[in-house]
Amino acid sequence: MAKGLVNKKRVRSLSTGDSGAGPVVYWCSRDQRVRDNWALIYACDKAASNGVPVVVVFSLVTKFLGAGARQFGFMLRGLKEMDAALAERGIPFVLLKGDPGETVASFADAVDAHTVVCDSSPLRLGVEWRKAVAAKAKAPTHEVDAHNVVPVWEASPKLEVGARTLRGKLAKLYPEFLVPFPDLPDVSGAMQAFRSSDASKTLAAALDAQTRAHAHDWDATIADAVARGASVPEVVWAAPGEAAARVVLDHFLTRRLRLYESRNDPAKPQSLSGLSPYLHFGQIAGARCAMEARKFSKSASKAVETFFEELVVRRELADNFCWYSPSYDSLEGQKYDWAKDTLRAHAADPRDHVYTLEQFESAKTHDKLWNAAQRELVFGGKMHGFMRMYWAKKILEWSATPEQALEFAIFLNDKYSLDGRDPSGYVGCAWSIVGVHDQGWKERAVFGKIRYMAYSGCEKKFKIPDYIARVNQLVDAVRAGKTDCSEVNPGRFHIDFAKKQAGGAGNADGAGPGSKKEVVSAEELARMVKAATKAGVGDAERAVDALRALGKVTVTAELLAETGAGKSVKALSKQTEDAIVAAAAAATVQAWKKSIMG
Ligand SMILES: Cc1cc2nc3c(=O)[nH]c(=O)nc-3n(C[C@H](O)[C@H](O)[C@H](O)COP(=O)(O)OP(=O)(O)OC[C@H]3O[C@@H](n4cnc5c(N)ncnc54)[C@H](O)[C@@H]3O)c2cc1C
Repeated sequence: MAKGLVNKKRVRSLSTGDSGAGPVVYWCSRDQRVRDNWALIYACDKAASNGVPVVVVFSLVTKFLGAGARQFGFMLRGLKEMDAALAERGIPFVLLKGDPGETVASFADAVDAHTVVCDSSPLRLGVEWRKAVAAKAKAPTHEVDAHNVVPVWEASPKLEVGARTLRGKLAKLYPEFLVPFPDLPDVSGAMQAFRSSDASKTLAAALDAQTRAHAHDWDATIADAVARGASVPEVVWAAPGEAAARVVLDHFLTRRLRLYESRNDPAKPQSLSGLSPYLHFGQIAGARCAMEARKFSKSASKAVETFFEELVVRRELADNFCWYSPSYDSLEGQKYDWAKDTLRAHAADPRDHVYTLEQFESAKTHDKLWNAAQRELVFGGKMHGFMRMYWAKKILEWSATPEQALEFAIFLNDKYSLDGRDPSGYVGCAWSIVGVHDQGWKERAVFGKIRYMAYSGCEKKFKIPDYIARVNQLVDAVRAGKTDCSEVNPGRFHIDFAKKQAGGAGNADGAGPGSKKEVVSAEELARMVKAATKAGVGDAERAVDALRALGKVTVTAELLAETGAGKSVKALSKQTEDAIVAAAAAATVQAWKKSIMG
């Protein structure tokens, strides 16, 4: 039998079952994307080698760990885009509603599924859902880790002490797992054959009946979820979906990567990638981000190294923790006694301040820095990474007990953060409050040996007034309903993407309404250059249009080299067959030079 497209170690069999004559069903949950998705590749590969079609299902629950309009809106808009992208590949997408443990198995049985393929999650509910699907569906159920660069069960067979013990293990496995994604196998023909063959006509009718039974209107589904979760409204800075995710990645790598070294300054949010919501909802693969970042290793080696450490080592360490410590969101999740003992020994220490959940939630503490962080979370949906540590540590300092501190921090993080309900969130809170992945420090009141963070330490690291001023501007702008300004969109690029999607004049760097610069992905740039060169001297009018559009794109030297765009357009400017095309190409080269010089 031919070798599959997906490394077998990335796949676990959850149940053996009997393969039906129907489609392979990919139950998509954590990895909500079409591109670079090992679970979807596995499903398509399995379907292609068995001559059956693929159907993708997603089961929507109306209540999910405190998610509001902010999180549901972002997710559903991304899924809507996924539905359209799958349709282009001849793969139906069915939105089921209800507990996946029930709905997925019953859908799979109704269409006599060949195999149920699911992606993987280390979180308790996700693990329970997968177990229930595997137990109930007649077809074999296979789980694929499509989220981690190195599958969580391959990275380590046990709970790791910290980044230092996992880092080396991961590094040894990159050659095997950090590999280019293959193209998605074309399964569109299998669906046509499935419908026309006498042998499968009844099954095709069953599939159609299921699709009809679950038919819905995306806009109504989104409006309904957004109305239900209205107490935590959507944010404007993150345009949802797979295409936007790629633009954010490219923008970060080509324009902001060097800033990453100052990522611990909360007054400068544009230094961070802004990728966490996309990674959380699986709208982009961590491996794609890692591989694209590595292309900049020569020009920005320190930044790439640091980014890689956060994106891969820290993120996958969080998955390791939740996978091997199912009580990850309680004190008991911490397996090391020193931390639990020290917290218990200091549980009754007097606190200078003790706040209720309501006081924390409404940012009514005595500390203006803490209040600013909480307001950034509530109004912006993403607290700066450095502030998250300070914020959680102070919740420990000002709560009645460490158990309550952990509960409050997780509640607030999950309720307001666009990237909440993520292993990195549970571990971030547990690191700050329970010392997970950390070591013992000098003993002090309340904290015991848990690492402490002080206001005075922040004063030394960054300009606190600048951060507070930034958050105040953000809050004012959100309250005023502004959607198109740097206060609500500190990275700026997300809004440009949304404008571009809407057909407006994109504005790459927020330089003002007159600017016509656009940010596009490397793939899009390569496609545009191909269109220009294909038209070339044979179709001057089209070539000139394409070259003009290219001249409006914001580029970097790296992007031009990586896509070969610089070389191709220069060659057009040097050809002597058509002077008009040569002049247009030369103008594009000039515009790019200007763009690179800033
Ligand atoms: C109390 C607390 C709560 C947190 N809650 C969340 C959360 O709910 N969701 C979440 O994704 N992250 C959480 N983090 C981790 C980290 O702060 C965020 O991932 C980061 O701030 C996201 O912004 P970014 O994508 O712009 O970061 P970048 O610095 O650009 O990082 C790129 C990616 O690396 C990963 N990463 C970065 N820092 C960490 C880290 N410390 N641990 C694990 N992965 C990391 C993330 O996937 C991130 O998107 C939390 C940290 C703490 C201390």
